[in-house]
Amino acid sequence: TTATTAATAPTGTGFTAEHASALVGRLRAAFRTGRTKPLAWRERQLVRLRALLTENGDDIAAALHTDLRKGRAETDSMEIGSTVAEIDHCLEHLEEWLRPQPAAVPARGLPEGSRAHTRFDPLGVVLVISAWNYPVNLLLVPMVGALAAGNAVVAKPSELSPATSALMARLLPAYLDADAVAVVEGGVPETTALLAQDFDHVFYTGNGTVGRIVMRAAAEHLTPVTLELGGKSPVFVDRDADPAVVAARLAATKFANAGQTCVAPDYVLTDPATARVLTTALAAAVENLFGPDPAASEVYGRIVNERHFDRVAALLDSGRTVVGGQHDRADKYIAPTVLADVDPDSPVMQEEIFGPVLPVVEVAGLDEAIAFVNERDKPLALYAFTGNDTTRRRLAEETSSGALNLGLPIQHLAVPELPFGGVGPSGTGNYHGRHSLVTFSHHKAVLDVPLG
Ligand code: NAD
Repeated sequence: TTATTAATAPTGTGFTAEHASALVGRLRAAFRTGRTKPLAWRERQLVRLRALLTENGDDIAAALHTDLRKGRAETDSMEIGSTVAEIDHCLEHLEEWLRPQPAAVPARGLPEGSRAHTRFDPLGVVLVISAWNYPVNLLLVPMVGALAAGNAVVAKPSELSPATSALMARLLPAYLDADAVAVVEGGVPETTALLAQDFDHVFYTGNGTVGRIVMRAAAEHLTPVTLELGGKSPVFVDRDADPAVVAARLAATKFANAGQTCVAPDYVLTDPATARVLTTALAAAVENLFGPDPAASEVYGRIVNERHFDRVAALLDSGRTVVGGQHDRADKYIAPTVLADVDPDSPVMQEEIFGPVLPVVEVAGLDEAIAFVNERDKPLALYAFTGNDTTRRRLAEETSSGALNLGLPIQHLAVPELPFGGVGPSGTGNYHGRHSLVTFSHHKAVLDVPLG
């Protein structure tokens, strides 16, 4: 009966709250048998998830190419490789992480011999709702944590990456314990049906508008949530930073997946002189990555759909175009674009760009850059390129963001012991490595007092 859960979970418009209730009931019954609790079950799921990734590389790459025109190298590193690395790290440490942690007992007030410790209990049945931009990583990495913590899981891939969603719906129940893991495909009606259920945790990746819907629905059941949201992640470029190095790293991270990365550098803050040399260096860096015509490049992606294409294309007039600017709706293509002389009040500075447009906003220096960041929503990531220790310390102490990354955008994601998550409007809660275990467990206090 290994594939029953997927086979009987209707997809498309037919999936109602009744179906969702029956599904959660079935997973909860499986959880209550205790089958998901042993370390061996958890490790087995992780090993199988790893096999799913390594044995289906071609199918995964084909689905991502269909959905987002992702190149194979990007798929291998940012979708498959990153997820396998997360699994390996978890498999290596899970037993040690799960060991009860002794807690010191106060010297007075408790009978002698009293002992205390904390332990991680699984939560029960958890819901993982994923986004379309890294549709493998953003679905499976949360699942690594949920399974490692001993939970049953309902996974809801994004309907905006339908080829990947269908592939995950086929593969996950075939590789994992299908009595405890289910995939529900679909969009708003299906997710709404799921959100009406009494889950033990909801883990959501996506935008803040839907994040509010998720949090409201979860509040009905007092279900805790993790919200992995987005926003504008600024980049401060100091005058002492080598423009060629900065440009190469900015271009590679901004224009990966055609800018559709939650932690993509959103805009640059720098002084006028640095802005001039940096924009020249960015033109060279873009050509170095994608050739003279990025539309013909194998490694340059496309915008996920027409709605997002129109949204991003409308931002192209927000400044003086110094790189790119070309776009083609039929191909959902927007060239890697750099805009100079951008007014902070222009449209491109009002919302998360989530596309291949990099505005450069001029500030007098560090003080003004810090003020600029602090006047806006707390970002998911704050980036800086600087060789100055005082600048680094001031950025750390005087700003608040999900992460502070000095020197190589996005790559803080690749350090599994760093918590990944936002603060305020960029999200609540975090995951990766041991932090995922914390997120998907209850940290239970145990006090043991001798009777005699
Ligand atoms: P999306 O459109 O795929 O939506 C995310 C999920 O929400 C999907 O599974 C979708 O079905 C569901 N959903 C949509 N409308 C809903 C509704 N009304 N009720 C219930 N569920 C609903 O993705 P998106 O939101 O366009 O993703 C882009 C945003 O996500 C950006 O802001 C980006 O920064 C952010 N993001 C954050 C992270 C992170 O890890 N912090 C990662 C990727 C993307």
